[in-house]
Parts: sequence; structure tokens; C-alpha cells
Amino acid sequence: MGRKVGVIAAVLIALAGALPVYLYIRVILLDYESVTDSVHVIYGVGGNVAVLRTQRGAVIVDTMSFPIQGRRILELAERLGGGPTQAVVNTHYHADHTHGNPAWPAGTPIVATERTRAYLERFDPAFWEGSSEGSAPNDLFTDRHELRIGGKTIRSYYLGRGHTGGDLVVLFVEDRVLHTGDLFFHRRYPGIDLEAGGSVQQWAETLERVLALGFDKVIPGHGPVTDRGGVLEFQRFIAEVAEFARVSVAAGKSLEETLAAANLEHDGAFEEMSIPFLFKFDRDFAIRRAWEEASGSVQPVELSTPEGPGNR
Ligand SMILES: [Zn+2]
Repeated sequence: MGRKVGVIAAVLIALAGALPVYLYIRVILLDYESVTDSVHVIYGVGGNVAVLRTQRGAVIVDTMSFPIQGRRILELAERLGGGPTQAVVNTHYHADHTHGNPAWPAGTPIVATERTRAYLERFDPAFWEGSSEGSAPNDLFTDRHELRIGGKTIRSYYLGRGHTGGDLVVLFVEDRVLHTGDLFFHRRYPGIDLEAGGSVQQWAETLERVLALGFDKVIPGHGPVTDRGGVLEFQRFIAEVAEFARVSVAAGKSLEETLAAANLEHDGAFEEMSIPFLFKFDRDFAIRRAWEEASGSVQPVELSTPEGPGNR
């Protein structure tokens, strides 16, 4: 008996020791593929990273979830991108797209919208203090931003509300590749940050403006690389959820009644995304957020950006 307990204890200790090692390996493992001759995508724990190769070096979109990951991404991206980092772009303020930033040296241009910078200060201030202070976005814009680096054009656009109220999309003009950040989840249920200005109701219209840009391949915030058809598929889903919640709220239905009556058609191939005890993005989550917005029970925070409080 005593021996059995000893064995169990030994196994538990070994497992407790193995878990951090497993998590560490999981976090530093990166996978990548080429999208065009000059564009690569890096997959890992967090949002997808895009790397553009220019004659002067790498341009990087998003940096995943942890500074230690950022260091691995920097190394890989500078190899794929043909030299030192020329600029980083953050599509929005969420940790799984920005917390790798501190791996880049101070002084690296980091492009984002004014609103992304404001949300980051409002919702995630602790991370950006101390040693990470110089790694927050420092090259800010409201509507449109252009970089010309080593023979390539990198255009960032703010096209309206969706996943948050500050998401940008980045177009690699010559390669006709678009990184949408989390305005587009490919075949996955989306996160919806109403508190930071996200909007299920306006999302499909924002995607209409995204679809008007000149691109062939799309790197989504999460999920595999796809084309315009993938964006259309997601747009149909988000429009369906918005309409369903709007009609339900107008008919005076409660959240519970709305969830129970949900009968969507456009999410057949969608996967859930979750981290136990932290979050779960699934059909019910999307419907709940849509109901909360349509019923006015969740309001975005007021921001004092140059555009004034509230959201456009
Ligand atoms: Zn996000």
C-alpha cells in the first residue's frame, strides 16, 4: 500500500514537472508556410503572424502571446524576411497579437490605430509598464497609413467596427495579400470584444469595405490562409448572427429564449476556440454577444482619443 502511494506520488510529481515543460514547448513551437514569393505566415499559440520580405528586411504583422515567443518569431521572421525588422504592425490590442512586441529593440516602428493604443492603455496597462513600455505601438493613425520599404508598399486601413473598435487590416500591395487580424476568423467562431468597441451589428459592413481592397490571398487572425471566399463565408455567418439577435431583441425575447431558439445555417464547418476557465468562443458565445449589443445591455468604454469618446 505504502509503496503504491509512493509510486502515485512519484508519477504526480513527474507530471507536475512535465506540465510547465510541455507548455513551454507548446509556446515556443512555430510553424510557417509561404503565401507568395515574399510573404510568409507563422502559426503558433496566438494570432497568425505575417512576414513580408523587402529589399531592406522584414515587415511583421502581429507578434503572438508572449515575449519569449516574440524572440523566436523575430529570429524566424528576419530569416524569412531577408534581414532586420523594418517595421511591426499590430492589428489590434489583444494580448495574443501584441505580447511578443517586447522582443523587438526600442525604436522599431510599431504601427497601430490610435484606438488600439488607447484600448491597450485602458484594458492591459500592467503589461506595457516597465521593460515593455517602449514596445507599445508608436506609429499611430486613424484611417489609413502607408509605408514604402525596400520596393514594397504596406497599407494599413481602419475600416470600421467588428472584433474591436480599433482593428486595422494590412494590405501587402504588390503581393495582393491581406492580413485581416481578428476581423476575420477562418472557419472558427470569433471573439467579440464589445467592451472595446466591437460590434456584431456593424461587422458585416466593415467586411464589405475589406472586400473592396485589392487582394487575392488572406491571412486571417486565426485559422489557415484562404482567399476572398473564406471572408465571404465568415461575413455570411456574422450577418446571420446580427440579424437573428436583432429580430429576437425586437420581439422582446430574453437571452435564454434567444439562445434556445437559435437556428443558424452559416457556421456548419466552424470550430470552437477555447482555453478552459478563460474563454470559449462558440455559437452560444456569438449569439450572446450579439444579443447583449442589440439589447444595449453591454456598452463600449468611452475613449478620449482624438476622434472623441465613443465609437464611429
Ligand atoms: Zn483578438
